[in-house]
Amino acid sequence: MINLLDLDAAGLAALFADLGEKPFRAKQVSHWVHQRLVGEVEAMTDLSRALREKLAAVATIHGPTVVSDTTAADGTRKWLLDVGAGNAVEMVYIPEDDRGTLCISSQAGCALDCAFCSTGKQGFNRNLTTAEIVGQLWHANRALLADGVSATGRTERELLPLGGKARSAKGAPMTAPWVEQGRAPITNVVLMGMGEPLANYDCVVSSLRVFLDDNAYGLSRRRVTLSTSGLVPALDRLREDCPVALAVSLHAGNDPLRDRLVPINRKYPLAQLLTACLRYLDRAPRDFVTFEYVMLDGVNDAPEQARELAVLVRDVPCKFNLIPWNPFPGAEFRTSPRARILAFQKALMDAGFVTTIRKTRGEDIDAACGQLAGRVQDRTKRRIRIHSAAAATTAH
Ligand code: SAH
Ligand code: SF4
Repeated sequence: MINLLDLDAAGLAALFADLGEKPFRAKQVSHWVHQRLVGEVEAMTDLSRALREKLAAVATIHGPTVVSDTTAADGTRKWLLDVGAGNAVEMVYIPEDDRGTLCISSQAGCALDCAFCSTGKQGFNRNLTTAEIVGQLWHANRALLADGVSATGRTERELLPLGGKARSAKGAPMTAPWVEQGRAPITNVVLMGMGEPLANYDCVVSSLRVFLDDNAYGLSRRRVTLSTSGLVPALDRLREDCPVALAVSLHAGNDPLRDRLVPINRKYPLAQLLTACLRYLDRAPRDFVTFEYVMLDGVNDAPEQARELAVLVRDVPCKFNLIPWNPFPGAEFRTSPRARILAFQKALMDAGFVTTIRKTRGEDIDAACGQLAGRVQDRTKRRIRIHSAAAATTAH
């Protein structure tokens, strides 16, 4: 069975060509799946019964399996999604006054092993499929709309498309009212959850296309941000294939330190990464790169390191986002004290760089960056238990 969430516009077009149907059916179905957010082919009421039956014989809409769904005191909402074989990934919804951002995952685990990252510490399990990546946005939109959440945080049940009738005149494109009015609960998507998006290139690009497609989520390229630790060849490909807003996890202003914190730097050192950023910028939807910089006490947070950083990136149009490091069990780091983060920010600002400090959201539900491995640790413990049980069995 084909999962309709797995197909971008080209994939849907190919499916309907295979079925011997007209190309506009692909768009119609895309509206139903990604705008009206239906969960079954049967609900696509402006398709003839015969066509619905034909489609349902080969395709379903299979969303993620939710393990848990928790809302923090500040409104941040975190879903833990089962991706099989005991693996789970997370997505986090962050409501703000003028936008709703969904932070999504691209891999179960991550092979890049950054020293300060809990996802890195769990190792690599597997790439998520397009359906599993797109399914995050699909599910979060459905869940938020079902609760009557709009981008502005207002309750607007009358905009709820779920279970509702298509309102548009017969034959007219069926853009859901909340998309037309810019009131979809999720206005921005960031690929900053678990995994390295550029290490799952094909499925990530296909998912980005669905996010941007006017017949699907219709997000502008400025509102979709991909965060990478710096896979240079894939970054060059993204520049050609689907340039969205770019965030680069820098974390250090010289190669020896970055080699230690972000091991992929040994393969693609800073000079290469920064020239790739410059190349990317002439296609990017924004005229700057966001450099993320996690603040590690006594490791990369001295004012002179900020000045070194400023010299390093002086030719790259950029902004800095300083991320207070979020601790997790067994990690060897400490979060920089607030005063040190502020001093670092000041040094960068004095050098002329716009520098923000990321507000930690959803701390009470472990939804902050790099805190996404809670269940994985459980799983590890369980594996140890299973292993020792197996060992005990063998010993008898
Ligand atoms: N793999 C990509 C995207 C996912 S990580 C990347 O590395 O950019 C998203 C951001 O969270 C990255 O900037 C990453 O460095 C940061 N991060 C990882 N672990 C963290 C932690 N424990 N505390 C704060 N930020 C963390
Ligand atoms: Fe992977 Fe990003 Fe974590 Fe590094 S910081 S291990 S690239 S998820």
